[in-house]
Amino acid sequence: VAKEAGRRRAVEFTPQMATAASERWALERALRLALEVHSFRIHYQPQVCLRTRRVVGAEALLRWPQDECSYLSPTHFIPVAEQTGLIAAIGEWVMRTACAEIGSIRHQLPPDFRLSVNLSPRQLTLSKLPALVAESLALSGLAAEQLELEITETSLLQDDIVHLIEDLRATGVGIAIDDFGTGFSSLSRVTRLPIDCLKIDRSFVRDIDRDPSQAAVMAAIVAIGHRLGIRTIAEGIETQAQLQATAMQGCGCGQGFWFSRAVPASQLVQTIARIEET
Ligand code: C2E
Ligand code: MG
Ligand code: MG
Ligand code: MG
Repeated sequence: VAKEAGRRRAVEFTPQMATAASERWALERALRLALEVHSFRIHYQPQVCLRTRRVVGAEALLRWPQDECSYLSPTHFIPVAEQTGLIAAIGEWVMRTACAEIGSIRHQLPPDFRLSVNLSPRQLTLSKLPALVAESLALSGLAAEQLELEITETSLLQDDIVHLIEDLRATGVGIAIDDFGTGFSSLSRVTRLPIDCLKIDRSFVRDIDRDPSQAAVMAAIVAIGHRLGIRTIAEGIETQAQLQATAMQGCGCGQGFWFSRAVPASQLVQTIARIEET
């Protein structure tokens, strides 16, 4: 295998790509080990109702600590986990752990608190996903309505996407479209799917207080959400000006560093109290 790979590398790969490939291989081994020795953590980023300033939920974000004060970004290693198939095991761990951690503090959280868990395209096609969701919920004490699964527009390109979504929704959970507006999916296709929430990508939030065209995009997405009777969450709110401009366009909820970064479950209750009292 090594020989074959070596020969291929010489023919098809540039030196930079060879480095990338061996880096990917090292990363894959490190990911396997991290799963085995339980190094992953989950942090939770609050989602806030812009009208009432109540925290309505939190998004589970995978963290891979490298030392005391740094972690490797999931944008770096999730694609490798996808390519190698490791995403199945990592995703299962995230689902079980996020439900268990939030379930264990559910009595201290707002009654209608909703946990969001990210699913990458390949996870969505795993046949045991609905069973995993049901089992994770049952063990956690959370109601199915308290779980939402975030899928990206890339996932929507799969042929049987309607059935995949329907199978998941049959368990009672909600479906959110993540990073909405950045993919290549057709608007009419997205809006015909049985979904519950649009998460408006942070690229539309970045200049919303300065760029009227960004405000117009936000207003248009919010209008679609209203007409479809589904929720809207703006991602990546970092400043008070962005918060005000987003609220002004009628967006339902917001998420971003302005409110809070993602925090460990052990800090979630106090973080929510801090957000709600300011
Ligand atoms: P995402 O699902 O769109 O998650 C939101 C990302 O935006 C998070 O990055 C979050 O930390 C970041 N963010 C939140 N507020 C702000 C803000 O105000 N400003 C800026 N600049 N960024 C903000 P993170 O944690 O690095 O995750 C990146 C991506 O990795 C996620 O994007 C998601 O696609 C993926 N990911 C994370 N955890 C998981 C997981 O458990 N499973 C899967 N399949 N993917 C995951
Ligand atoms: Mg997400
Ligand atoms: Mg997102
Ligand atoms: Mg994003």
